[in-house]
This record gives sequence, structure tokens and C-alpha cells, in this order.
Amino acid sequence: MSEIDVFLPLREKMVREQILSRGIKNPQVIKALRKVPRHEFVALPFHKDAYADYPLPTAAGQTISQPYMVALMTELLEIYGDETVLEIGTGSGYQTAVLAEMVQTVYSVERIENLSLEADLTLLRLGYKNVKLHVGDGTLGWEEFAPYDRIIVTASAPNLPQPLVDQLKEGGKMVIPLGASLGQDLIVAEKHKGQIKLFDYGKCVFVPLVGEFGWPASTG
Ligand code: SAH
Repeated sequence: MSEIDVFLPLREKMVREQILSRGIKNPQVIKALRKVPRHEFVALPFHKDAYADYPLPTAAGQTISQPYMVALMTELLEIYGDETVLEIGTGSGYQTAVLAEMVQTVYSVERIENLSLEADLTLLRLGYKNVKLHVGDGTLGWEEFAPYDRIIVTASAPNLPQPLVDQLKEGGKMVIPLGASLGQDLIVAEKHKGQIKLFDYGKCVFVPLVGEFGWPASTG
């Protein structure tokens, strides 16, 4: 981008005060958060809040996660650069862009068509060419490009959706908020010899993952 980025100081402050100070260490994650223009992923009235320490609304009553949560989930994925990553819940596309900074291709599924279209435009405008978006029920995964080394689910599920477990590679990792609709635990699921091991990284709050292997449509 040749334009002057007036948000750069705010983004630097965000990284210092919300990301580094809370212990995020992966240099690739930090670099991605320094680079991705978060304000581009929210509507104009929210530009001034784009680097604040809380989630923001997107269209259709959904949210773009707090920057720290994006950083934490991305760090927990333990990405080295050559992984295939599936994201469920494209939303604004911000998390997608952060991932696109770190791997060759990001596959991302969103159930609300308008959100996916909007995210697609934003990602194209910012020059991300290594992102493939799909509209559909992400609890079913995205069979076409499976299996995946990493899966990140940015909406909360009552249990691990079985199709996602099936589409995770042996030795792969999935980061997903699991629990009741009002509060969840951030879980890392690892697949070893076909068995799933769960690790709990504490409390979080996400919008519901609505679909066949998630919550019923009345919750979303
Ligand atoms: N990663 C997003 C966060 C979006 S919030 C961002 O950075 O902006 C979670 C998103 O998950 C919402 O957009 C919601 O519509 C979507 N979602 C909920 N259930 C889904 C499902 N079954 N499949 C795909 N997307 C789903």
C-alpha cells in the first residue's frame, strides 16, 4: 500500500499493550497483527474502535473477536508456514487475513452469505490472494480440500463437530471454543493415532456455531 496508514500508531499501541504485554510470543503472530489493517474489516463508524481491547460488531449480529483473542488462537495453532489451515466462521475476514500472512493457503467457511461476500471484497482489496472462501455450514468442514493440518473455529460449539475431527490430519491441531452458549473454554484438540486429546486454555465468549454439528439455528 502506498497510502499513508493513519492507523499505524494505534495498531502499534494495540500490539504493545494488548498482545505483547499479555504474553503472546510467536514472532509471526506479532508480525501479522502489526501488519493487518484491522479497521478495514469493520464498518466506518467503528474505525475509531478498531484497535480497542474488545470485540466489535459485524453485519448480521455477529462479531469480530477482540485482537488478543485472535492473537491467542493463532498462537495456539502453532503454525510454521507450510500448513493447510481451515477456518470456520470467516466473519469480517480479519482472522482470515492474519492467517493468510502466515501460511500459503487459508480455507475459510462462513454460513452467512453476505458476510462472506463482504470479507471477500475486503481481502481482495487488501491484496490477499491466498484465501479461498466458501459459504455453507462449517460444522461439516470443507471436504474438498481436506485433510487439514490446522483447524480454527471462531464460533462456539457444544461439542467437537465430528466432521472437523475427521478432516483434521494425524498430528493436527484444532482450536475451538467449547461449552454453553453464554460462556466457553478455549480448547486445543490434538489428533494422535486417531485419538483426540483436549487442552483447556481458559474462559472465552464467542457467538454460537450454528449448524448440523453445532447449535440449532434459533441460537444464531
Ligand atoms: N473470525 C471472525 C469472527 C467471526 S464471529 C472475524 O475475525 O471477524 C463467528 C462467525 O461464525 C460469524 O460470522 C458466524 O456467522 C459464523 N458461523 C456461525 N456458525 C457457522 C457455521 N456453522 N459455519 C460457518 N460459519 C459459522
